[in-house]
This record gives sequence, structure tokens and C-alpha cells, in this order.
Amino acid sequence: MNTHECIIIGSGPAGYTAAIYAARYGRKPLLFSGLLQGGQLTQTTDVDNYPGFPNGIQGEDLVQNMLAQALLFGTEVKHQMIVSVDTTDRPFKLTASDDAVYYAESVIIATGATAKYLGVTNEQKYLGMGVSACATCDGYFYRNKEVIVVGGGDTALEEAIFLANLASKVHLLVRKDHFRASAIIQDHLKGYSNVEIHYNTELEEVLGNDQFVEAAVVRDNVNNTISIMPIDGIFIAIGHTPNTEVFQSILEVDDIGYIKTIPGSTYTNVPGIFACGDVQDTKYRQAITAAGSGCMAAIDTERFLNNRAIKNGFYCVEVDSNGITVNQ
Ligand SMILES: Cc1cc2nc3c(=O)[nH]c(=O)nc-3n(C[C@H](O)[C@H](O)[C@H](O)COP(=O)(O)OP(=O)(O)OC[C@H]3O[C@@H](n4cnc5c(N)ncnc54)[C@H](O)[C@@H]3O)c2cc1C
Repeated sequence: MNTHECIIIGSGPAGYTAAIYAARYGRKPLLFSGLLQGGQLTQTTDVDNYPGFPNGIQGEDLVQNMLAQALLFGTEVKHQMIVSVDTTDRPFKLTASDDAVYYAESVIIATGATAKYLGVTNEQKYLGMGVSACATCDGYFYRNKEVIVVGGGDTALEEAIFLANLASKVHLLVRKDHFRASAIIQDHLKGYSNVEIHYNTELEEVLGNDQFVEAAVVRDNVNNTISIMPIDGIFIAIGHTPNTEVFQSILEVDDIGYIKTIPGSTYTNVPGIFACGDVQDTKYRQAITAAGSGCMAAIDTERFLNNRAIKNGFYCVEVDSNGITVNQ
């Protein structure tokens, strides 16, 4: 049986950063890229907020640089999906999409999350050209402009507040006649006079020219009337789906499906399995935070592997620097 010390699942900033660190520990990590090689950043153009690139960098170039760095230190990359992980025995048994079987003493999960979209006409066509699912990433481009935010939950109201500090006007489209968001954030929103709330209103279609969004077709779902709203940008804020289908039967996840990690670490409830990046992050979901937690996962993995080595292959109780039992 060919057992790898460390298998990494996912090829976004979290997976590649974990690979750079694990490779530099001499663990010869094997990384599975999945279908979206390079992760979510390949779906955008300019990334202006990743430190170290004062003139910005294309998302694709940023992840290609990360890949080059991971390969340089000895990461092996396979362009398959992982379709199952069996944790009943050690080493863990992983099956890839080509049915090949791999064994691993430790696994780092970095499979990310996927923004939900509405599926309306032209939404995907104008992605990165006026349609966005991330105000933190793209809000700056809409300074003193007029934007729409779609959604009625906490995320949508947070995005609306964030944008209200930059944009001249924010139209918040809420499908129902009330918000799902918590009372506290609704109160907070009341302080922004440049946010106009449109209840019972749905985005029907995105309109624009060859380069950018120009307007939105919106529907009042009570009166069933359609109107055209001239607009500079549209933010879809209806949530994310963590890519955890494969892991939900073996790991603890929250009610949405995000992998639960012990706060301040990347430990999951299964010793030897670590999670980093957007797949365990309900809060920040940025390239830099994903990369940071990828680094944490490699360090946590290294400590786990060293601990196991010291104990002659027995998986012992491990205590973190705060004295908390994190592994057994
Ligand atoms: C359009 C857009 C623009 C953005 N702009 C910015 C920005 O300007 N600045 C910024 O900081 N952030 C930005 N973000 C957010 C940023 O891209 C994410 O926070 C970051 O990519 C998360 O990294 P990750 O490594 O956790 O996951 P991801 O980048 O989502 O990568 C997940 C990886 O897991 C793989 N995978 C999934 N399932 C499996 C499986 N079963 N087996 C094997 N592999 C699997 C996928 O193929 C993919 O490679 C943007 C996001 C989007 C969608």
C-alpha cells in the first residue's frame, strides 16, 4: 500500500498554501485540484486586495503563481476530484474520480464554497462585468455609483451596509415582504439614508452593453409589474454552498454544511483531518484568509504527524498551546 503522509484536497489559495508549507516540511504532499483548477479566483479578473501586488494581479495569475511555488518545493498534483473518504481505518482511504485509491496519514480539506446565483438571464454573462457575489472584493469599484443588492438575510444586509459607505445609492431587493436578517443588523441598516428597500421585488434579468451592466429588469411580485432600473452594479447576496458533500457523513458540519473546526485551529472532529479556507469559513471568505488558514492547516498537520511519529504510530491525545484536547 502506497501511503502518503499528507493529501490535500482543493487547488484554491487555501490548498496551494497548505501545499507550499507541507512541501517545505518535506512531506511531499499530493494535491487533488478538483474540477476548478485554481479555485474561485480563476472566475475573476483583477484582484486588487491581495497583499504584495500594489498594481493588482489577475486572479488566474495569482493562483498560477501559487501553483508554481507549490510545485517548486515538491508538491505532486493530480487533476481529479476526490469522491469519497473512508475514515474507518488508518491510514485514511481516498477514492478519486478515476476510481484510483489513495491512502493518507493526514488529509487537508480545502474544497472552498460556491456562491449561489439566481439563474436569471445574463447573470453569468455579466459576472465580473457589473455582477458580483462579493462586496468586499468588488465594492470599491462602485464608489459614488448606484448599485443593487439582492437578498434578505444577514449577508445581504451586511453587503448593503458595506456598499452604502461607498456607493451613492443602494437598492436592496427583497423577494418577501420582510427580512430574514437578524434584528440587530436590520436596526443598523436604518442608519443609512442612501439604502432604499424594495420588498416583494425580484431581479428578472440583467441588461448591459458589450462590456458592462447598464440596467436591471425587476419584478414586483405582488402586482406582477415589471420595471427597468438603470444601475451600475448588481451584488447577489443569497449565500454560499460549501463544497462538503463528500465529507458530510464523516465530519461534523454546521446546518449549512460548513466543516466545523476547533476555533483558532484547523482541526476537525476527526484526528488527522484538517479543514482550511472557505470550506470552514462562514465569515471572511477572502483569498488572503483562505491562504492564511491553509498555512495553519499545514502547521497543524505537521504537528499531528510529528506527534504520531513520536508515539510510534499510535494516535494519542494531543493538547494545543491553550491546554485544550484537540486530538485523541
Ligand atoms: C468572482 C469572485 C471574485 C472574487 N474576488 C476576490 C478578490 O478580489 N479578493 C479576494 O480576496 N477574494 C476574492 N474572492 C474570494 C476568493 O476567491 C475565495 O475566498 C478563495 O478563493 C477561497 O479559497 P479556497 O482555497 O478556500 O477555495 P476555492 O478557491 O473555492 O477553491 C476550492 C478548490 O477545491 C476544489 N474542489 C472542490 N471539491 C473538490 C473535490 N471533491 N475534490 C477535489 N477538489 C475539489 C475546487 O476544484 C477548487 O480548486 C472572489 C470570489 C469570486 C467567486
